[in-house]
Amino acid sequence: MCPACGGPLIVVEFEGVEVDHCCACHGLWFDAGELDVLVSLGGGDAERLRAALAATPTERSGRRCLRCGRRLQTVAVGDAPSVQVERCRVGHGFWLDAGELDRVALAATGGAGTPEGRAVAAFLAELFRYRVGDSTKG
Ligand SMILES: [Zn+2]
Ligand SMILES: [Zn+2]
Repeated sequence: MCPACGGPLIVVEFEGVEVDHCCACHGLWFDAGELDVLVSLGGGDAERLRAALAATPTERSGRRCLRCGRRLQTVAVGDAPSVQVERCRVGHGFWLDAGELDRVALAATGGAGTPEGRAVAAFLAELFRYRVGDSTKG
């Protein structure tokens, strides 16, 4: 069940990485390390992403971890305007609402002003549009 809306989750594979996708709200759950892999494939800096995602939590989320059921922590990723993502406090993974993935990718690569940032965001947008669209056809 989706931690955000309670809708059904489906597992979608992107480049060998399995991601849980909510069919209703289009949020995404990444197990620990999965997001790093996808950002690396897009030419981004996985170290930088990990550092950004390890930010001090700003508040407790009302949502719960898919793996352990603990309440997630909200973390602000990147410089202002930052994007709020939710993280399992014992490290199972991350929940991203629809539209947050490209912003996280930008935050992890130095921002939209850099060619690298735009390349990674474009890579992820293309990957997810294609596969998610494909999986809902039938
Ligand atoms: Zn949902
Ligand atoms: Zn957990």
